[in-house]
Amino acid sequence: MLRELIHELDVSRPGVGISKKKEGLERVLVNFGTDVDVLEAKIQALVVSWKHSGKAAEPLAEREPTGANVQPVADRKRTAGTVLSSSATSPLAALWRDLLIKTLELGLLSQLRYLPELGRNAEALLAQAKAAATEQEVAMLGESFKAFWFKLEMNSDAQFRLHEELLQVMRLLVENIGELVVDDGWLQGQTTMIRDIIARPLDIEVLYDAESSLKELIFKQGRLKHGLIEARETLKQMATSFVERLAEMTENTGEFHNKIESYQRRLSSTEDIVELNVILDNLMQDTKAMQLDALRAHEHLRQSQGEVKDAEQRIRQLTDELHQISEVAHKDFLTGTLNRRGMDEAFQREFSRAERTGEPISVALLDVDHFKKLNDTLGHEAGDVALVHLAKVVKNVLRPTDVLARYGGEEFVIILPETDQAEGTVIMTRVQRELTKNFFLHDNQKVLITFSAGVAQRQQQESAEEVIKRADAALYLAKQAGRNRVIGAE
Ligand code: GH3
Ligand code: MG
Ligand code: MG
Repeated sequence: MLRELIHELDVSRPGVGISKKKEGLERVLVNFGTDVDVLEAKIQALVVSWKHSGKAAEPLAEREPTGANVQPVADRKRTAGTVLSSSATSPLAALWRDLLIKTLELGLLSQLRYLPELGRNAEALLAQAKAAATEQEVAMLGESFKAFWFKLEMNSDAQFRLHEELLQVMRLLVENIGELVVDDGWLQGQTTMIRDIIARPLDIEVLYDAESSLKELIFKQGRLKHGLIEARETLKQMATSFVERLAEMTENTGEFHNKIESYQRRLSSTEDIVELNVILDNLMQDTKAMQLDALRAHEHLRQSQGEVKDAEQRIRQLTDELHQISEVAHKDFLTGTLNRRGMDEAFQREFSRAERTGEPISVALLDVDHFKKLNDTLGHEAGDVALVHLAKVVKNVLRPTDVLARYGGEEFVIILPETDQAEGTVIMTRVQRELTKNFFLHDNQKVLITFSAGVAQRQQQESAEEVIKRADAALYLAKQAGRNRVIGAE
């Protein structure tokens, strides 16, 4: 192969000069130099293309100028002789060419915004495609494309590995964080939740859910932690003042002892009844003061004890609350509706109630229409406000016994007890009408959101997943039918 390559480099072929050949070879070496097998195949293909282009291009024709603003092939005059084959100038070829250029411009370049190097390659490819006017140039374009796809594939492999590695690091972190932190009561709930989330295939909505649940926990735990720290602080203060008081008392009693001793001395040495009276008087007074001191100290201690007990009780209560919140976070932080966990419990409760009473029960699945567009045009924050607004409107229309839960992202589940499918559809249509009447404001601009929904009545012994699945199929039909509508399940 090398011999052939050297030979071909020497042979002069019309249309492929030595510099062109070197350039091609260089490109192949750069792009495929790391893989011997691929490299060999590519060099062989290159040599073949040189040979081939020599034949196709004979006799040597005047080269057309190249550049980004070359006219479409179909518009060109046939000045290039046989360099332009007849098919290259046909209207169909021109259409294909335009299609390719548009695909590159609109489809590919826009996808490579965050990959500057590949973006530059794609731009070069685009320029090359625009300029390609001969069969030989199109063949070279083909080669460049191959090199490019190869690079792109390598890159997506790398992205995938990066993604996986990131998840792995997160898994490790989550699994071991408990061991790193001594008081891991705080973390139990959070880590369990994240572990659940990364165990599922990753998608943007799952991440949104994770984010909002975590924010909720962090917020609540932050508040509780603050309360706990305060209570502990009170306890510490109590203990300090207790000790101080104790020290004061022993000091006082020490003084008293000293006084008594001096009185004893004076008593044993005196013979004078008048002086004795004075000593006894003083002694009485000191004893009284001492008694008063002791009484005050006693009172203070009793009070402190009460405060310590209160603080202890508060700590116990806060700790209980904290555990509860960590383990059973039932509400969605953003919208205040139930989250998946809350929804699962509501399903259990409502399904068994329906079984007991024999009343029908229906489930609606609601998905905001074109929500991605709203996020893209008004921003993610506005998207969040829209979800809060939606939840509020829905809650206002529903009965207090109905249950609203965020199913994930911009999808909500509504459990409608004592409601059959027809009624459920009517209720959801009413919600829809209410939502079209209630705009929400973004930068003083009215924004209208709509949703599509599917409604399914629970059949005998059907599980929540099965009912939701049927509601989802109906929702899909509602989207297909043009959105902003409610459809009952099969
Ligand atoms: P349609 O349902 O009408 O087919 O279109 P859509 O644009 O709503 O479709 P899709 O379900 O694919 O997109 C939903 C988007 O909602 C994806 C995600 O970017 C966005 N999203 C999900 N959760 C949140 C959230 O909590 N906040 C915001 N702002 N956007 C979210
Ligand atoms: Mg959706
Ligand atoms: Mg949607």
